[in-house]
This record gives sequence, structure tokens and C-alpha cells, in this order.
Amino acid sequence: MADLDVVVVGAGFAGIYAVHALRSAGLTVRAFEAGSGIGGTWFWNCYPGARCDVESKDYSYSFSPELEQEWSWSERYPAQPEVLRYLNHVADRFGLWPDIQLNTRVTAAIWDGEASQWTVRTDDGAERTARFCVMAAGCLSAYQVPAFRGLESFRGPWYHTSRWPREGVDFTGLQVGLVGTGSTGIQVAPEIAEVAQHLYVFQRTANFAVPNRNAPVDPNVERALKAGYRQYREQARASMLGVPVEGTGRPALAEPAAELQRTYMERWQAGGGMPFLGAYTDVLVDRAANDTVAEFIRDRIRETVRDPAVAELLCPTTYPVGAKRLCQSDDYFAMYNRPNVTLVDVRSDPIAEVTPEGLRTADGFYALDALVFATGFDAMTGALARIDIRGADGLPLTEKWAAGPRAYLGVATAGFPNMFIVTGPGSPSVLSNMVVSIEQHVEWIRDCVEYAVSHGYSQVEATSEAEKAWGEHVIEVAYSTLFPMADSWYVGANIPGKPRVFSPYIGGVGTYRARCDEVASAGYEGFVLTVSLADCRRLAVSVSVNPQAQQVLDGRAEAGVPPTWEQTPEEARAGFAPVREMIGPGPDVASVRDIVIPGTAGGIPARVYSPVANPPGTVVYYHGGGWVLGSVDDWDACVRALAVASGCDVVSVDYRLAPEHVFPAATDDAYDALVWVAAEMAGDRPLAVAGDSAGGNLAAVSALRARDSGGPALALQVLIYPVTDHDLDRESYRKYDGREFILNKGDMAWFWDHYAPDPAARSNPYASPLRATDLSGLPPAFVLTAEHDPLRDEGYAYADRLRAAKVPVEHRHYGSQIHGFFTLVNVIDDADKAAAESGAAIRAAMEG
Ligand code: NAP
Repeated sequence: MADLDVVVVGAGFAGIYAVHALRSAGLTVRAFEAGSGIGGTWFWNCYPGARCDVESKDYSYSFSPELEQEWSWSERYPAQPEVLRYLNHVADRFGLWPDIQLNTRVTAAIWDGEASQWTVRTDDGAERTARFCVMAAGCLSAYQVPAFRGLESFRGPWYHTSRWPREGVDFTGLQVGLVGTGSTGIQVAPEIAEVAQHLYVFQRTANFAVPNRNAPVDPNVERALKAGYRQYREQARASMLGVPVEGTGRPALAEPAAELQRTYMERWQAGGGMPFLGAYTDVLVDRAANDTVAEFIRDRIRETVRDPAVAELLCPTTYPVGAKRLCQSDDYFAMYNRPNVTLVDVRSDPIAEVTPEGLRTADGFYALDALVFATGFDAMTGALARIDIRGADGLPLTEKWAAGPRAYLGVATAGFPNMFIVTGPGSPSVLSNMVVSIEQHVEWIRDCVEYAVSHGYSQVEATSEAEKAWGEHVIEVAYSTLFPMADSWYVGANIPGKPRVFSPYIGGVGTYRARCDEVASAGYEGFVLTVSLADCRRLAVSVSVNPQAQQVLDGRAEAGVPPTWEQTPEEARAGFAPVREMIGPGPDVASVRDIVIPGTAGGIPARVYSPVANPPGTVVYYHGGGWVLGSVDDWDACVRALAVASGCDVVSVDYRLAPEHVFPAATDDAYDALVWVAAEMAGDRPLAVAGDSAGGNLAAVSALRARDSGGPALALQVLIYPVTDHDLDRESYRKYDGREFILNKGDMAWFWDHYAPDPAARSNPYASPLRATDLSGLPPAFVLTAEHDPLRDEGYAYADRLRAAKVPVEHRHYGSQIHGFFTLVNVIDDADKAAAESGAAIRAAMEG
């Protein structure tokens, strides 16, 4: 057993909420956090001037209305210490501390497919196992210091803004150099300029910045907000950026010039970046429209900075506004009017080296007492790349992502089962209000884990196909905008050698959320959910027989029903009468008629169940009974249930039975019936095969024969605890050898002896489809297995072989059920559930 249900990596906004949400779902969780406190970004980035550029009313959790009401922000844009106080309050309020381990860096996460669990190693040498791993390591946490020659020789101290000393730094009277003029550099520069003797700002690329207009929160405004907070949050969730922004709804290029200027000036006066970019519909997609905003901001820079040469250097010209993060500051540009601030253009005069005394550019030298790097992050992937993450078959994540990150919905990546990434590459993440995106991801992950656990799945994995299609969509959307035109960290351009891939999803928070919800409600479309055999064995230790199934077993024991292998075929066939009586009638079906299908060896009786007038497809069904027993009458109730659940016509086939007719009679009839139904009944509608037990064998074999004989084409094969091999030396046979669980090892030997008396015939793939050398090209499969069933392991084996042959497989394992339960509608509730699940799979295959 894994130590934990879930390990969470990181305790920033994402990790904190993941602990709360997963724990509230009844899961055991532990978060590991490298910092000595929680907060992630807001713990590490404690440089002077650090402030959020999203308003406090938006940049806060919405999951708890009580928290929302009781917390008061002091400022419109919260400063770093206040955000950190808020997060600590959340951890206190929800009692999260016992499940968060500080001062512990996760160094490795290794997937163990056999055991369906992650082994997570930490830098204190400890190792934990967990069924699921949630990576909440942050999009901007792997900080980046440029590899300047001679940095190690520098005599003074140097700092990266993202690892700022917690005790602070006193720059009073010092000559300070600052490299980097992104959001961080723009915030820290005025603070340093305030105290330093001189500040040299080394700028490689000028950045657009708009004012914050920060101010204390007005209590009346706060009251009004809190009165309608729920509706406000709903708007945020459905919005483009995770913040409700009021745009004009018009394109800038259609706007008269004076009106355009008025709109921009209003927004400039009001402060904030998002209202600026959201003012007109074409600003982020049309370069000419974008230029109207860019020129407006450049004019404000020229207006503010007195030295025209410095002003021009501060005017960005090489990329569209918004294509790099639009910075926000109330005092950055004005700072250049101070006599103790010098702007150095290291684009035209590049940094050559750091010396013990300062910094040398190609053409100059700057004596410095201290150096500050606000040089950004290996964004989106850096934090994960620094952990040794290995998925299925030991594949390192860094290797999988060598040419750029690939993640389905940005939340999961193929080959890394049970690993989720919060705000990963391919999700809106950094292009949105992070808190809104984090909450959406955490809740989606929680629901997915709950779904898997409650349905008995031990593995959830994104498929490569879904991941590829999503990746193409992300790129397509990105290239319909101006975003890829900048050398930004969004495309990894700030990290030498990093592949240029546009990582975040720009389709909008609301659109993205809707897609994620669709995927979940379609049973996690694009994911494969499975149960590992190891998990299955483990479950067997603890999972007892379903009480309704146990009643059936007890009833048989009381009635003294002998094992099948002690009976003659006639006696065993007669034994179905009391079972039919116990089951009673199945659900009503609009039309039921008996037909005779012309087979090559004579007429094959069959019964057609038509639940609706215009069904989406036709299913050919083969009953169980070890090729010796059973009939369409005996299987009437469960086939009715399947017809109703699938909404499809179901043709139940009375194939010839052994020992009167030995192999291959049953499979010949099964295949003949399929060919006839395809030609005479199905028309243009899709066709599927289905069956249980020996009927599951006939369904699998019919699918094989259809592939080998060039048709008919099948949309799905539904294999309910199928017989797939004659080898009775499997663990599940050993377990039920001599035990009466409807079917035991002796019964199966008896069935094989009657069906294929010639032992050599049993290895024919049309008798034991698991023995087919090649299973590729078969139709998608829905495989159902039961725990207390000798056929359990060969069901698993067939599902695994199909998957290895790249056949899509949906596998449902009923952890407390017995062989035969599928037929016991009205008696065992799981039979109705299994009919509903198989029916849904059939309907989806027919419709999709
Ligand atoms: P950044 O946007 O990547 O900026 C890094 C700066 O360092 C850029 O000016 C870059 O120049 C410069 N630089 C990097 N390597 C250099 C080199 N070798 N030589 C000279 N200059 C070099 O990083 P950031 O400012 O830390 O911001 C990162 C993100 O964090 C932001 O975009 C934002 O999303 C978030 N953030 C938000 C806030 C807020 O909420 N207010 C505050 C800070 C950060 P080039 O442009 O030429 O590459």
C-alpha cells in the first residue's frame, strides 16, 4: 500500500489549496515545500517593492465564502508581505499545517507501474510512496542568473530578486547595478534608487508599463464587493483572463482617433494592465491595432521622462504590447528623472563581464558595490525539470519534453500516469489570474482523483493522441494572436538553448474551463483509466464479496447446487431454470422478435431487441455458458438491460453448443451471424460485438476474424469477463480452484474439455485469442473484469495485450464482484451498473 494517496509538490497558492481540496475529499495528502515558509512565489520574492499586479479582490481564493467575507485587503494591489500573511491565515484557518512539510525539497518522483504508485524522494533522504502526485511547483519558481563571465570574482554581494535575503538588504550609500527590466526589475528599481548612492539599470529590452494607481481599499467599495462576491467570482471564472474586464467590444481600428485616445487615457488614469489590453477586441490580434496602444504608452513615457534620449531608450519598439507581460508601476519611468539613476543600454553595448570591482560592458565600466539580478525564470517547465521525474518505463520527463513541453489540457502528460500538473504548460496559467486558474485546476484534479478512486481505477493517464491534439490547438490559438511575436519567457526565449514553444493556452479561462468540464463529464475523455493487476491483487486481500453476490452464493450453497464439472451438460443446462426464475423479467424493450439467421452450417436462431426507432448502431451479442450451456432465453434479462442502456439494436445469437458441436462450431456461427447482421440489418449504422464469459471469447474471436477476413468493420468489442486463453495456471484460477464462486478452475477445465476436446485446437487464436501473434488493427475494446473470478487475470492479460498493440481499451474492474454477475439483473445492483457502463461505452462508440 502507498504511504499516501497524494503527494503535493510545493506549498504556494496551488499547493496550499491542493492540500485543502484533496484532504476534504477524504484523501491522505502531504505537501513538501522547499521554503522555510509557505507561499511559493510570495515567500521567495520578498524583494523591496514586490507587489501583485492583479487586484487583491481578484487575487484571492474563492473556494470559501466565509474566508472571502472575513478577510480584508488593505490595498488595491497587495504588497508581498500582505499576500504572505493571507496565505498563512488560510493555512491556519483550514488547519493545513499538519499536512505541509517545510524545508523539504522534492528531488525525485519515480513511477512504479507494477504497484501503481509514485516514489517521491526528498532532500532529507526520505522516501514516500503515493498513488497520485500533484505538481504544484509553480510556473515562475526556477530562477535564472545569467552566466556572466567573472561573476564569482565580484567583491560585493549579489542577489537574485527571487532569493532575496529575508532580513532585507541595506543599499544606503552604495553604488548598485540592476540587471533586468521586466515586471520585477521595474518594481525593485525605484526602491533601490530611493536609498542607493547611485543605481545603474542595465536594460537589454525596454518594457511597456502602465500605472497601478495603487490606493488603500475603500471600505464602502469593499462592502459592495462582498455583498455580490459570488456573482463576481462567477464572472471571473467565465472570463478571458480570470478577471472580469469591461471592454468596449469594438475593434480599435474602427474607432475614431479622438475616441481611441479618450478610452486609453481613461484606462491609464484608472490604472491596471488588463483593462488596457482588453479595451478593444483587436489589440492582441492585429499589429496595427496594437500599435495604437503601444504608441499611446510610448507617448506617456516621453511625457514623464525629462531626458529625451533616456525616454527613447525606455520606449519599447521591438514587439507588440502585451506579447510580453505588460508591467505595472506608478513610479518606474519617473525614477529616471533622479540624478542618482543611470540607464545603460546593454543591447547596443552588451555586458562583457563582471569584475571584482563592477561590471564591464563592451564600451564602458561601472564600479559597483552590489549587484541585483532581476533576470527572471526558467518559466513553466524549469521547476519540474529540476526534479528527477520518471514515468512509465523509466522515461525522464526532461527527455519527453526535450523538444518542448507536451501536456493534455496542461494538466497531465502521457507516459506519466497519476501525475497532475497545476497550471502546467498548455493551460491558461500565466496568461490569466493565477488564483482563478489554480482553483480550477485543483478542483478538476480532485474530481478526477475521486472519480478514479471511487470507480476502483488505480491509474489515470493522458493518451498521446489527446495530448497531441491539444498541443496543436494551443499552438493554433497562440499563432492567431500577436503573442508569439515577442522573445518572451512565454516561448522560452529567455533561456539559452530552450526550445521555442509557446507554452500557455491563450483561448481564455472560461473557454478552457468549459473544455475541462466536458472532458470530465465524458468520463475523462482523452485519458485511459485502468486498474493494475498488482492493485487488483492488493484489493483482493481487503475487498470482500459484494453482499448481494454473497447472497447468491449462499443461496446456491443452501440449495446444494453441485459444481458444474460434477454434472452432465443436460443437468447443468437444466440448472438455468431456477436462475431465470430468480432474475425475473428484464426491462421492457419497444420491440423484441425472434429470427433465424442463415449460417453456413444451417439456421442460427437469434433474438433482436430494438429499444428505439432509429438506433445509432447494432450490437451482436453472444451469451456465456462455457460454450456448453445457456441460450438467448437464459440471457434475456441482461441483454434487454444492455439494449436499453445502449439505445442500440441488440441481436442475441443462439450459436451451436458443445459437446454436440465442438470448436470451431460456436465461433463459426458467431462470425456468420455477425456477417449477416452487417449485411442485412445494420445498414450504414456502426456495428459492435459483445459477450460475456465464453460469449466474451466469441466476441473477441469474431473481432479477430472480422479483421483477418476483411470485415465487417466494428466500432467496438465489449468483452465482459471474457475467456481469452486455455491456460488454467493463472493466479486467479489457483485462487478459485475448488472454491465455489459460480465458476471455478474445475468448471473451466470441464468447459474446455467439451468445447475443444482436441488439446491442440485450444491454442488456435480463434479459441484462445490471447495467443494471436498480432492484436493490432482490432476495434477499440471495453473490457470488464470481476475480482472473484477465475477469468480475472486473462481479462487483464487481454486488455494489456490490446493496449500494447495500440488498440484503445477502456477497462472496468468490479472489485467485489463474482463471475456471472452481469447476468444477474434485478438481483445484484452492480449488474445494472455494468449494463449502464457497457451501454454508455457502446453508445459513445456508435456516436463517435
Ligand atoms: P522577466 O520578465 O523574464 O524579465 C527578466 C529581465 O532580465 C528582462 O528585462 C531581461 O531582458 C533581463 N535579462 C535576462 N537575462 C539577461 C542578460 N543575460 N543580460 C541582460 N538582461 C537580461 O522576469 P521578471 O521580471 O522576474 O518577471 C517574470 C514574470 O513574473 C513576469 O512576467 C510576471 O508574470 C511575474 N511577475 C509579476 C509581478 C507582479 O505581479 N507585479 C512582479 C514580478 C514578476 P530581455 O527582456 O532582453 O530578455
